[in-house]
Amino acid sequence: MTENSNIKIVNEVKEMQALSNSLKKEGSLISFVPTMGALHEGHLSLMSTAKEKGDFLVVSIFVNPTQFGPNEDFNKYTRDLDGDIKKISDIGVDVVFFPEVDEIYPEGFETYIEVQQLQKPLCGEFRPGHFQGVATVVLKLFNIVKPDIAIFGEKDYQQLLIIKKMVRDLHLEIEIIGMPIIREGDGLALSSRNAYLSDEQRLQALALSNSLNNIKRMFNDGENNIGNLVEAGTSILNESSIKDIDYLEIRDGNTLEDQEEAKKGDIVAIAAKVGNARLIDNTKL
Ligand code: AMP
Repeated sequence: MTENSNIKIVNEVKEMQALSNSLKKEGSLISFVPTMGALHEGHLSLMSTAKEKGDFLVVSIFVNPTQFGPNEDFNKYTRDLDGDIKKISDIGVDVVFFPEVDEIYPEGFETYIEVQQLQKPLCGEFRPGHFQGVATVVLKLFNIVKPDIAIFGEKDYQQLLIIKKMVRDLHLEIEIIGMPIIREGDGLALSSRNAYLSDEQRLQALALSNSLNNIKRMFNDGENNIGNLVEAGTSILNESSIKDIDYLEIRDGNTLEDQEEAKKGDIVAIAAKVGNARLIDNTKL
């Protein structure tokens, strides 16, 4: 364990578990924010809420290899522990859990978690194995950090639903809290992957939130035909020369099932590539 400002950095599973066990014995409520680092205001908002909700705040920083596909950005994902620690120094984070890959996946590891239906559509279709990797690492982190409360962003809406379902299905005694998407002033959802964008691509990327806003506006004005809504949203992406669209879909906000017609509470979700960055965004109707 090393000290950096007032934040303890823990690298080992056993040490984290021992610390959490002793905190629980004292009756402390542990709150937890899992991240992959390259932290921004979106992450910080989850941490501030986590700080309010619990007595002891653990943040994990772990770029999880099992949730990346073979041609994805695992190797180039930004890793900057010192920079991240500086960014969170005023929030009151007590521990950063920062393990090596071998610590989480020791040789011979072969147990995985799947939330079978919720993992299928949207990102599941375009990133095979992604949500299996996410559910597996989150369950591991839960067993290591032993939180009472864990906070996730609605930015990764499908992930949030999957974690909630896993917690329910496996009887985990953890309260899962979802937090709203934090955006730049012009609407772009904050993401660690925005760092991959050039200035020009950054402007192009605005089409994602513009497209979602336009669909929401049309819905609020009475349009509930999904074909019409998706077409209008797609044309905004196309006008911005975004051609590489994985999906723009409207699905039930709880089950992610396909809908005949758009209704209140549905989720509108987009994934598209801008330059080398695969960006996602969503909004609720
Ligand atoms: P990541 O480091 O990208 O795995 O994200 C860690 C957590 O931060 C996840 O629960 C994300 O949903 C959440 N998050 C990422 N971006 C945002 C954002 N712009 N607003 C709110 N939460 C976010």
